[in-house]
Amino acid sequence: MQSINPATGQIIQSFSIWQAEEIDAVLKHVESAQIEWSAFNFAQRSCLMHNLAQIFRQRSEEYANLITEEMGKLLKEARAEIEKCAIGCEHYANQAEFYLRDEIIASDASRSLVVYQPLGTVLCIMPWNFPFWQLIRAAAPAMMAGNTIVLKHASNVPRCALALEDAFRQAGFPEHAFRTLMVSAEQVQAVIADRSIAAVTLTGSSTAGRKVAAIAGQHLKKCVLELGGSDPFIVLDDADIESTAQQALVARLQNMGQSCIAAKRFILIDTIADAFVEQLSILFSRLQIGDPKHEATGIAPMAREDLRNELHEQVERSLAAGAKLVSGGTVTGTGIQGSYYAPTILDHVRPGMAAFDEELFGPVAAIVRVKDTDDAIRLANQTQFGLGGSVWTRNTARGEELARQIHAGSVFVNGIVRSDARLPFGGIKESGYGRELSYHGIREFVNIKTVWIK
Ligand code: NDP
Repeated sequence: MQSINPATGQIIQSFSIWQAEEIDAVLKHVESAQIEWSAFNFAQRSCLMHNLAQIFRQRSEEYANLITEEMGKLLKEARAEIEKCAIGCEHYANQAEFYLRDEIIASDASRSLVVYQPLGTVLCIMPWNFPFWQLIRAAAPAMMAGNTIVLKHASNVPRCALALEDAFRQAGFPEHAFRTLMVSAEQVQAVIADRSIAAVTLTGSSTAGRKVAAIAGQHLKKCVLELGGSDPFIVLDDADIESTAQQALVARLQNMGQSCIAAKRFILIDTIADAFVEQLSILFSRLQIGDPKHEATGIAPMAREDLRNELHEQVERSLAAGAKLVSGGTVTGTGIQGSYYAPTILDHVRPGMAAFDEELFGPVAAIVRVKDTDDAIRLANQTQFGLGGSVWTRNTARGEELARQIHAGSVFVNGIVRSDARLPFGGIKESGYGRELSYHGIREFVNIKTVWIK
């Protein structure tokens, strides 16, 4: 397993992959730790989760640099990611007891109630795009519910994986309540099968999701999947073009476009399309490609060279199928080392093109022109994905009406789709199933137990 700086292509550190005996030993420890951890009451768990939030804030600069060096995002975005982790920990530290309170329900019993109890150890299979936040948003609720965690992180972020384990230890959690497994994707099947694992959660591609769900299914283990997306960003003809284009830039280029909830298909009503594309291309042209640690840099590298090459190939296939190149479309604009991709706008994208049908996980905006709102909704829903979406209009009542018609796990009106610990997060169709965050997220990895007393 190698940690490679995507801005330079240099290998930072190499790690050996664990053998079966090492994995077995850790799984046994985590299983025993779960018994100890589940005996902690909410106040005790909450105290440690607050400690963890504090560690994130104290060591923010160190962790943010680690993220940037390992997967390339802008340092300012990495700092924001660490702050988001602290907020997520605090949310569950404060709310878990309330979210999991006993529910008294009237029935034919003298007393009947629902109690929420931990399942055991949850395996978190996580991606590299938000190497701290993706894990925390799964682990903080699951642990506050009394579960222990084993992390199989993406192979390109091993240093982040080890830093997370260290952070839990420093916060005072029981020694093996949170452990990182240094394993490859091929070794995951045996981990899921292990009797110590009660459930699995995966964030990543639909391909990985399918494979993991099949293995979890074979072993009858609960599974939550947060997969890819091709979120529509619908601009109606009454929207303010200048401010909406600014939001479009952020929605597409945040994390260099490597976000499941980044806006990917910009669906524009014909009458405003030319003005919007012109404004967006002006904004794209102002961004500087450079070192992700520099404040002035707007375009950071993508996380891995193979992902950058795959994106370029999707752009080329879209162009061959008739899309029009407005800007970008090149592997790197400046000859800088590293896996950079020029911010790209493709116009006249239609179903049947890669930019419409597939997930473009990088800085490429696909422009889809439509004649009216009915057409906009029809095309927004013409995708195998169903993660997020947004509608931009001065008429918020109309925006809400359209939000209800979009087939997705979340739709924002006049706002960029983002995760928020207070609100549920997840998708439908090939974007996965189950929910993270809010009370819905913490109730995924619990035994919802009925107690009935005559
Ligand atoms: P993957 O989906 O392959 O990786 C995500 C995680 O799943 C990693 O930890 C990976 O491990 C693991 N994994 C992959 N295959 C298996 C398997 N068969 N069994 C068990 N675990 C597995 O993402 P990639 O890094 O290859 O990125 C490819 C594409 O996936 C992106 O271009 C994007 O479209 C999508 N993606 C979506 C994300 C999201 O937030 N929804 C995040 C990342 C990617 P390992 O690294 O060792 O292969």
